[in-house]
Amino acid sequence: MPVLSKKEITRRRFISKVGGGIVGASVSGMLLKDANAQQLVVPDPPGKKLGWAIVGLGSLSIHEILPAFAKCEKSKVVAFVSGHPDKANKLALRYGVNPKNIFNYQNYDTIKDNPEVDIIYIVLPNGMHAEYTVRGLQAGKHVLTEKPMANTPAECQQMIDASRKAGRKLMVAYRCRYEPYNREAIRITRSHELGATKVILADHGFNIGDPTQWRLKKDLAGGGSLMDIGIYSLQAARYLSGEEPNEVNAVMYNTPGDPRFKEVEETINFQLRFPSGVLANCTSSYGYAGQNHYRVVGTEGWLELDPATSYRGLRMRVYRGNVTEERELPVRDHFALEMDHMSECVMENKEPLTPGEEGLRDLKVMMAIYEAANTGKTAKL
Ligand code: NAD
Repeated sequence: MPVLSKKEITRRRFISKVGGGIVGASVSGMLLKDANAQQLVVPDPPGKKLGWAIVGLGSLSIHEILPAFAKCEKSKVVAFVSGHPDKANKLALRYGVNPKNIFNYQNYDTIKDNPEVDIIYIVLPNGMHAEYTVRGLQAGKHVLTEKPMANTPAECQQMIDASRKAGRKLMVAYRCRYEPYNREAIRITRSHELGATKVILADHGFNIGDPTQWRLKKDLAGGGSLMDIGIYSLQAARYLSGEEPNEVNAVMYNTPGDPRFKEVEETINFQLRFPSGVLANCTSSYGYAGQNHYRVVGTEGWLELDPATSYRGLRMRVYRGNVTEERELPVRDHFALEMDHMSECVMENKEPLTPGEEGLRDLKVMMAIYEAANTGKTAKL
């Protein structure tokens, strides 16, 4: 029989007690009590995953978010909130969600009684983000909400206030901030590897279809292409420069008679002036074939991402010293990275990289862009 160290004997005894069922575990196994009422504090098991509830089972949830859980290290899907029980049940079967964890929009607030849910992900039309975020926070859960954060800065502020009051985390789903290509573009730009940044050019748009969809209804979408896709141009200008714009100019165009643009704008082009002198030229449209790229032009070179913000297939080119080189980086799932970041922030009580305040900043600039387009004058921030 091998000679056992004192430490090893203690560990074996402990394991045999666990096996014998004498030890009771508290939630998440943090505190263990043995028969002699001794208390042992143990760390979370390696590979611990927080439980997520997905609110709204539309296109993004079905095609990107749910499949991304397979690549998550700290997040697992445990609940759905949906107005369509058939769809929710089918997806529950596929993703191993317990059918008792399927909620609807009426009984959503009872999610507070479900200890399996740590974090709620709001994937509803923009105009519903504020209400479902606030209700989620009031239920004691942490909330990740899709972009744009809400329809107005006032709604964003309500969401931030609710998160502070509840003592729960609030994050906005700006997935590009978590994936390697955009992160590298930020690093190169801000480290002045291209010299001083002079101009940022960012274009995002696509030709939107069905005129009856919620994206073309002002109350559900908050606005048109700017709120949905132009926000990527705005984000890029802000995260690449690392500054907040102080002046905005904009022009808007809707094709006359196009039934899609009765309530919201089709195309809006805007210019941002940043305090350091960086200028950004940005476009946003629902009226043309897919555009998804940006270019940072510095005094010594430029970099380009095209596509820049698609879910996959991003490409980077960097020009310096008369040489243009293509850079390949690891391909990672944006949603898995974003969700694991949120889980990590909850586990370690850290502030998310893109908290509610970041969503509010975008909403304030977007309101200034609309003001400049409507008045034809420079809007100051
Ligand atoms: P979608 O239309 O495919 O899904 C919306 C979901 O909301 C559906 O399940 C629908 O049933 C539900 N819903 C509940 N009440 C509704 C109502 N009154 N009207 C319409 N739908 C209602 O939309 P989506 O493309 O999945 O977008 C959802 C959110 O995700 C939006 O805020 C959008 O901006 C955002 N989004 C983000 C990204 C990204 O890359 N981060 C990509 C696409 C969409």
